[in-house]
Formats: sequence, structure tokens, C-alpha cells
Amino acid sequence: MGFLLCHIAKAEFMTEEARRLDEWLSQDYHGDMSYMANHFDKRVDPRLLVPGAKSVISLAYNYYSNVRQIDPEAPQISMYAYGKDYHKVVKKKLQQMLEWMKTSFGNINGRVFVDSAPVLERDWARRSGLGWMGKNTMIIHPKKGSWFFLAEIITDLEMVYDQQLSDYCGTCTRCIDACPTEAIHEDGYLMDGSKCISYLTIELKKKLPLEYKDKMENWMFGCDICQQVCPWNRFAESHSEPAFLPKEKLISMSKEEWHDLSEPLFDELFEGSAVKRTKYEGLKRNIKFLS
Ligand code: SF4
Ligand code: SF4
Repeated sequence: MGFLLCHIAKAEFMTEEARRLDEWLSQDYHGDMSYMANHFDKRVDPRLLVPGAKSVISLAYNYYSNVRQIDPEAPQISMYAYGKDYHKVVKKKLQQMLEWMKTSFGNINGRVFVDSAPVLERDWARRSGLGWMGKNTMIIHPKKGSWFFLAEIITDLEMVYDQQLSDYCGTCTRCIDACPTEAIHEDGYLMDGSKCISYLTIELKKKLPLEYKDKMENWMFGCDICQQVCPWNRFAESHSEPAFLPKEKLISMSKEEWHDLSEPLFDELFEGSAVKRTKYEGLKRNIKFLS
């Protein structure tokens, strides 16, 4: 199906993760993402999402690209959003995989997830040995880095479970030092989501707080800095997913063209893209904030 990695963990209640999530929510690190506080019980127990669940299959789908926006001064878009919306692209593959499993293994029950339901995706990836959770809170694989989407199949099929990986961040602090908004805790492994540029440019629907005015590093949708600086990403290879290829026009837009962006052009550039989530007004707000 084209997945980069596939690892399996036992489906069970997540005791330690439940404690951490509770603490994270109580600190208001989720900002206005109130949905993060919903379905707490399901979020920490996959058996409430799929009755009789035995296994959580964690998958990674590569989105790394060698293509870059041409104008170095153009407002930047996070690499994951260059092409078509990953939710749709990856979900289709997951459904095909689940169908294949049903044909191969008989009468099994399962559900597919890609950033679409209360599933602690990174914790499942860590538990299954797909990667370790880095100080930037991304899942990192020692050979593949972290430029990938996570997805899961939760199933009542009992499987052989994989070993967890060790943490290879060591004494490195590059992501913590490079984060322009100090969203990553000084000791790493903890993110104040409400300070992250991805949250500010995508999730926050209100006016952007002025305290971030000079800290956006020219990002208009998402932010890739803490992945760009991570040494484990130096071996990343380009994806081969046609749906993730950016439109020629998107890559070649100049700073001035972005600042003059019209609604019809927004619709043309981002048809079927995750960027549509901000809507035209949201992206305009972000671009204006950078000037
Ligand atoms: S995505 Fe950007 S703003 Fe968010 S934690 Fe990483 S470096 Fe900081
Ligand atoms: S930049 Fe360094 S500390 Fe941060 S996630 Fe990568 S290896 Fe870990």
C-alpha cells in the first residue's frame, strides 16, 4: 500500500498516557482545541473505539519532498500540506488494507484512523516501536526521520507485538533552541500547543496574539522548523505519492502574489488541500500578520 513503516502494539488501557494527557489538558496546553478534552476515555483505551480490540497497527506514510517554494521570501506552507489532503489519501489506503486483512484472516473487526478520531497516534507509534518520541514530540525513526503521517488500524485480531525503540535524542537540544515561540518545554518531550505556530496559523480562529508578531519566521500555514533542524531527518527521502505533489503555481508564487491573494486563486490553489481548513479569510489573516 506504500506505507513507509508498520508496527504493532497490544491494545490496552494507556495508564501513563492518561496521566500525561490529564496533566497537559489541565495546563491548558491545548489552547482553543477544546476537542482535545473530548472523549478522554476513548482516547486512552482503544477497546472503547473497537469492541474486543487486541491490536493497534501503527503505520507511517511519507510526505517528505525535495520540492521547495521558489521565492525565499514567500510566506511558507508546511510540507505536509503541499498536495492533496492526507486524511483522504491515507484513509483510502487504510481501508484497502483492512479489506485485504479481512480477506486474508477471515471474520475480523477493525477500524481505520488517520488524525480523525480520539486516538493518541504518537503514543501508539511509540508503543509499537515505529519510532521514539523526540524532544520535539514528533515520532522519529532512526533511518526514516519524522516527515511522515501516522495512521492506525485497530482490530480484534490478535497479533505478534513489536518491541519499543530506545530514545536517541541524547544531549541534542536543536529543536528546543530553534523553536521561535518557545512552544517546546526547556527539557523537551512536552509541547505547549497553544504557543506552536501550527496551532496559531491553523487551529486558532481568533485574532493572532500580537506577542507572536515577530516570531512567525514567515510561516503562513503550519511550521516545519523543529523537524528541519532535527539531525535524524538528514537521511529523509522524497515520497513517491502523486497526490502529495504541489501545484506548479503554488510553488512559484512570489511574496507579492501571496499578499495579493484573491479568493478565486485560493480556491484554485487549495482545491482538495488541507489548507482549506483555514478558509480564505484565515490564510489572509495569517499572511497579513507576517507583513
Ligand atoms: S512546529 Fe514550529 S512553533 Fe511548533 S514547536 Fe515546532 S518549531 Fe515550535
Ligand atoms: S532536534 Fe535533537 S532533541 Fe530535537 S527531536 Fe531531533 S534529535 Fe531530538
